[in-house]
Amino acid sequence: MKTDVCIIGAGPAGSTASLYLSKNKINHVIIDKATFPRDIVCGEGFRGTNVFWALEHLNPNYIKELQATTVDKMHWMKFCNNENKEFFINLGDTSSFGGRRIDFDNFLVNKVKESNYANFMEGQTPKDIQYKPSEGYELMVNGQKIEAKILICATGATSYLPQKLGMPSKDKLEKVIGMRAHYKGLKEEGNGVGAVYFLDTLKGGYLWIIPLYDGYFNVGMAIKEKVLKKNNWNVKQLFQDCLEHPNIKNRFTNATLEEKAKGKFLHLPNYKVSLSSSHLMVAGSAGMAIDPATGNGVSHAMATGRYAANHAVECLQKNVFSAKAMKEYDKSILKKLRGERLVAKLYTYLVSKPRLVNFLIPLLSNNKTISKFFKRKDVATKIYTTFTRKQL
Ligand SMILES: Cc1cc2nc3c(=O)[nH]c(=O)nc-3n(C[C@H](O)[C@H](O)[C@H](O)COP(=O)(O)OP(=O)(O)OC[C@H]3O[C@@H](n4cnc5c(N)ncnc54)[C@H](O)[C@@H]3O)c2cc1C
Repeated sequence: MKTDVCIIGAGPAGSTASLYLSKNKINHVIIDKATFPRDIVCGEGFRGTNVFWALEHLNPNYIKELQATTVDKMHWMKFCNNENKEFFINLGDTSSFGGRRIDFDNFLVNKVKESNYANFMEGQTPKDIQYKPSEGYELMVNGQKIEAKILICATGATSYLPQKLGMPSKDKLEKVIGMRAHYKGLKEEGNGVGAVYFLDTLKGGYLWIIPLYDGYFNVGMAIKEKVLKKNNWNVKQLFQDCLEHPNIKNRFTNATLEEKAKGKFLHLPNYKVSLSSSHLMVAGSAGMAIDPATGNGVSHAMATGRYAANHAVECLQKNVFSAKAMKEYDKSILKKLRGERLVAKLYTYLVSKPRLVNFLIPLLSNNKTISKFFKRKDVATKIYTTFTRKQL
């Protein structure tokens, strides 16, 4: 089968790329090794602005549908230090939201399936992927040969497929290990309040509790792999120890565990990483993973998916697929997502300095002017909207 574009991976990056290709009436194939609905380890707090923007741009009804069935708004984020000092940030009207990835990703995939331009192959792992100079990529799926002018690799943070396709190794990048469990019946901190806890036991890691749709809570933890190894810690035990911490324990009095803790890793981002070569673009966390603390991973994946699709449309129109032409994709990602990358860098720096965090939280919350400023909804809305519009 010959096609203009083949996308591997149907997470937020791959699905968004597919939806934008369909919007541009480009025939394409999209393949995922999983059968949907499929689950994934994630903090499940999404920075709404970018996600909302892409969905609204694709179809104004998507947001209403999503909010009616899959996600709840998150209005506040609370940062809490080891001494239980709290600092609240209003997330603004454009807001962030929480929802289970199994539902959110399935929502996107169902929209992909509705399109006549997308040939969606699930439960399939492509084999024998070969680069054919000046033609594109050839691969085998379930005994069928697929020839594509452009390949978009959106296989997620733990995939080494981009490296098999010649992208630079990630081995020197730092790894973050994450765990997350689903609970119901947790003591709420207010309406739609997400919380990030910095605990001494975690030595530079952090624990989060994110309210999701339908009474679920995502309880998770992230910590650098080198800290785990240095202390010879068992990640599951560490997670349990955190839940026993006095700042957190009382929230679990009437809680029921709905899904036990699962783990995953990602590499911390390297902004110099290459995201393309001739006939190839890497989208989402397969190329550059954003520190989960920002809640920007999904939004980043959707933004890169959109850029990859739009760049593919341009390349197809011009019939140019050289490495040089593809590099425009890298440039636009690095430029447009500068703000998001800076936030991720700042978060990563801050959380690796527990003493600084322990000092900053009471300092900020005790300062009435600062704490009042961060509690203002209009200010938060303005910051997020301006920031995001600039990005997208
Ligand atoms: C512990 C943790 C917590 C996080 N918390 C948050 C958070 O709160 N908010 C947030 O926004 N982000 C968070 N993230 C990041 C977020 O999960 C990722 O940024 C996001 O999933 C990236 O989307 P993606 O589409 O690039 O990849 P994925 O969502 O990983 O999708 C990749 C898809 O590719 C498929 N695939 C892989 N290999 C192949 C193959 N060879 N052939 C076919 N298909 C393949 C997989 O089945 C999968 O469906 C977190 C990450 C971790 C690890």
